[in-house]
Amino acid sequence: MQIITNPVEMRAWSERTRRAGQKLALVPTMGYFHEGHLSLMRFAVARADSLVVSIFVNPIQFAAGEDLKSYPSNRQRDRKLATTNGVNILFCPDLALMYPENFQTTVTVTGVSDSLCGRSRPGHFAGVATVVAKLFNIVRPDLAIFGEKDFQQLAVIRTLVRDLNLDIVILGHPIVREADGLAMSSRNIYLSSQQRQAAPALAHSLKHAGSMVKRGERRPDVLRPKVAAILTSAGLEPEYIEFVDESNLKPVTAVGINTILALAAHCGSTRLIDNCRFG
Ligand code: AMP
Repeated sequence: MQIITNPVEMRAWSERTRRAGQKLALVPTMGYFHEGHLSLMRFAVARADSLVVSIFVNPIQFAAGEDLKSYPSNRQRDRKLATTNGVNILFCPDLALMYPENFQTTVTVTGVSDSLCGRSRPGHFAGVATVVAKLFNIVRPDLAIFGEKDFQQLAVIRTLVRDLNLDIVILGHPIVREADGLAMSSRNIYLSSQQRQAAPALAHSLKHAGSMVKRGERRPDVLRPKVAAILTSAGLEPEYIEFVDESNLKPVTAVGINTILALAAHCGSTRLIDNCRFG
């Protein structure tokens, strides 16, 4: 495995690889790998000839007061894990090469960026769309893989690719969970042991809603308070509990096969998200 930090070198490698007839996959990450990241890598290896994994903690997707400065990192461990999971290139672009002093462009995907996490994190998805557009242009992958844990991010990227006619196949990967149901996240490291015990309440509340829907309940207004009760009784503070259509992220009035239940809740100072699809 090779590490590349310069976007110009990255593009040259990609061009050589594509010219050699190889199908190229990209998995964008912010590093501090866990099994969720590694599953995306293995998923990519099974579908392409070469795999580029990027590690870039993208400053423009963090608001003031968020955890940009303290975002967890262990590059040595990431390098080892990338090597053993079939990665060909670990692309860790230099900050100054990604955002030189005269950088003045933002890619904004309206609509799908505005609801859910977009409400409490204004500008976040514009930061994500901008850096992903840059990574796509530097790496020029045939396909790119994103986790369904961040399903709004996935919706933003799919919209970006559709609207800008980018010739890249976007694949979603199911959420990877800990044994007790907690969705894996680099940020889980922030949880105290007591908070770590409370955090699986998100997954439990999704499961509970799922079993109510299986028994025939379809009304978001009936389901929402049950989900909220599970979260609050575990000591979590819900930010949103929304039933949305997966195609446009708009709220639904009745749960159907395309409905996603999306949650964000605060566990102490850590913000956790999770979701499930009822289909
Ligand atoms: P991050 O490093 O948190 O930006 O995540 C990089 C990619 O991994 C994103 O596409 C995430 O959606 C995905 N990802 C993170 N956690 C999980 C998980 N628990 N299951 C599946 N995908 C995940």
